[in-house]
Formats: sequence, structure tokens, C-alpha cells
Amino acid sequence: MARYTGPVCKLCRREGTKLYLKGEKCFTDKCPVSRRAYPPGQHGQGNTRRKLSEYGVQLREKQKARRTYGVMEGQFARYFEKAEKKQGVTGEVLLQTLERRLDNVVYRMGLASSRAEARQLVRHNHFQVNGRRVNIPSFSVKPGDVIEVRESSRQKPRFKQMAQITSRLVPAWLEVNSEALRGTVLRLPNRDEIDAPVQEQLIVEYYSR
Ligand code: SF4
Repeated sequence: MARYTGPVCKLCRREGTKLYLKGEKCFTDKCPVSRRAYPPGQHGQGNTRRKLSEYGVQLREKQKARRTYGVMEGQFARYFEKAEKKQGVTGEVLLQTLERRLDNVVYRMGLASSRAEARQLVRHNHFQVNGRRVNIPSFSVKPGDVIEVRESSRQKPRFKQMAQITSRLVPAWLEVNSEALRGTVLRLPNRDEIDAPVQEQLIVEYYSR
């Protein structure tokens, strides 16, 4: 269960867009994407007008999606392989698969300020799905699943605080009862309900080279 542990704001600056990896800081004027709008590194400032090759554009799109959801290279490639085998538009199925990850659902429910925090809360046994403890961040939810904070974790102040910001994040494919710290997956998300800043067709082209 490897995960990226380096500085995350650098990732947004590399992609030239906000990936919302840091929770509340992302919504303030402290966000480095606004303050230093050029790629990280010694030569970052000189690179702002560099024209990317076709491959470069596809690669950046794939990296953007991977970094947004906090998925490592190998696992992302496996998600793509599975998406290719499923019915439907491959790029959309891929994004849907990423959205269905339990850590993303906890984030979407508003019970964590970022996917990284959601991942940690899941790993620390704070959640159950359909009444059974699940501590695997990549666990894939399906319509009808009920995700809730476990009884033993309900009194923790962080969940009460987090419940207050649910209205900003909850998409229509989830139903959330913030007082009960519970969410239900009503259906799978449509493409227009997935606000990941990526053009999924470019990811498909990247893997189809
Ligand atoms: Fe950092 Fe969030 Fe801004 Fe990205 S969006 S650079 S994670 S503060």
C-alpha cells in the first residue's frame, strides 16, 4: 500500500493547476499555485512557456489524474487495464473507478479535508461499509453501500468538525446524513459530477501508444 509522501504543493505547481491535495489551505491565498505560478525546481521559472510534445501533454494528464486521487503508477495502470475491459467509454469508466475508492468517497462525504486525510482515517479503522469495518483506502464502493463512521470513533471532535463542511463537497450520487456521520451511494457518478481537472481522453491516448 505504497503512497506518495513528498511535498504535495509541488505536484500542483508541476501540473500548473490546483489538485486540492492540502485541504483548507487550497482555498486560501496561501496556495502556492497562485503565489508561484511556475513549475517547481531550479529552472521552473524559465519553463513557463515551454511547449509540450503530444506525448508530454498526454503524460501530464495521466499524472494529474493519478496525483489527484493519490494513486501510485502501477495501481493506476491496473485501473486503466480494468476500465478498458469494461463496457462504456474507457476514460469515463476510469474516472468512475477512481471516484468509487473508499478514501475518495469519505472525502466527498465531507468527513476529511483532503483525500490524503481520508486515506489515513480509513487506514486507522474509523469507517465501516454495510456494518463491516473496512480499512482499505482502495476499497471500491457500489450503489446501495452505506459508509459510516464506526461507533467507537463517533465521539472524536474531528468528525463533528468535518461534518460541518459537507455541503460544499457532497455530489448528487451520494446521500449524506452528517449528523449520523453516514453516507449512502445512490448510484455511480456521471462524468459531469466528477470534478477532477483532467481530460480523460488524453489518458486513454497515453496508454494506447
Ligand atoms: Fe497546495 Fe492545495 Fe494549492 Fe495544491 S491546491 S498547491 S495542494 S494548497
